[in-house]
Amino acid sequence: MANKTSSSTYFPTTLPIGTIGDLLAGCTAMLESEGVTEPQREAREIVAAVLDVPKFWAAANSIADASPDVAIAVIRAAMQRAAGAPLAYAVGRASFRHLTLEVDDRVLIPRVETEVLVDRVLERCSSNTRRVADIGTGSGAIALSLAFEREFDLVFGTDISLDAIAVASGNAASLRSVLKSSIEFRHGSLLAPLKGEVLDVIVSNPPYVSFAELGDLPPDVRDWEPSLALLSPQDGLAATRELVRQAPHHLAPDGLLAVEVDTRRAGTVAEMVSVDDRYGDVEVLLDLTGRERFVFARRV
Ligand code: GLN
Repeated sequence: MANKTSSSTYFPTTLPIGTIGDLLAGCTAMLESEGVTEPQREAREIVAAVLDVPKFWAAANSIADASPDVAIAVIRAAMQRAAGAPLAYAVGRASFRHLTLEVDDRVLIPRVETEVLVDRVLERCSSNTRRVADIGTGSGAIALSLAFEREFDLVFGTDISLDAIAVASGNAASLRSVLKSSIEFRHGSLLAPLKGEVLDVIVSNPPYVSFAELGDLPPDVRDWEPSLALLSPQDGLAATRELVRQAPHHLAPDGLLAVEVDTRRAGTVAEMVSVDDRYGDVEVLLDLTGRERFVFARRV
């Protein structure tokens, strides 16, 4: 998709645009001409995201007037999408479990696999689970969901990217009043910012794509999402290996390490944890497509 779309091809050059229906039609045409495969659905999603209404709203309200502000915001997002940006970046937000998070190209767009990771962690929490950490927090999706869904004493999020810490902190500020747990974001590599902290759960979706696999990623991932959040040396395993090495220094007895992995390397990671005598109860868990996606283990 080329970055050449001019909104005036699809919309009158003088505002007001007219109705929501006109706006939808113009956006759909723009997205379609740039090769977006489901242009109408995406146009509706863009309107829904800009107006912060449900996805069906635009179709049900096509005769409502679109204010110039709304029209400009929608057209701007549609142009970014037409230029190839992932929809979440184009609209500046992504849904993750119960939350809507602000995202941009400084952070990975949270994935449905990672929603399952949070589920599996929450299932294993008890009233004794007081302090948890999300390593490589990105937008803060895991940390904020844990803090939203359960009362812990403290949820940490760390990230090596200062940009990510800024995005996560912004999301925390917006959600502060609805969180059940205190949350604290710290800048640094893996567990380094949590020196001296004892944790009951360490959860992470670290970068796990190998350099050789970069070319296989869909263009909207490869060309837009931060490589720092995706790629890891040593065949995609460097960050995971280091996390497995560091985590026992911080985990309380029986504390949980929960890591998302590349499905092709789930066995390798399970083996890595199994041969480490600081861990027991190693589990390999599946994502919603039935692929081995998570490796869990307990500190002995
Ligand atoms: N699952 C991501 C993808 O779509 C990768 C995320 C990660 O490296 N942690 O490629």
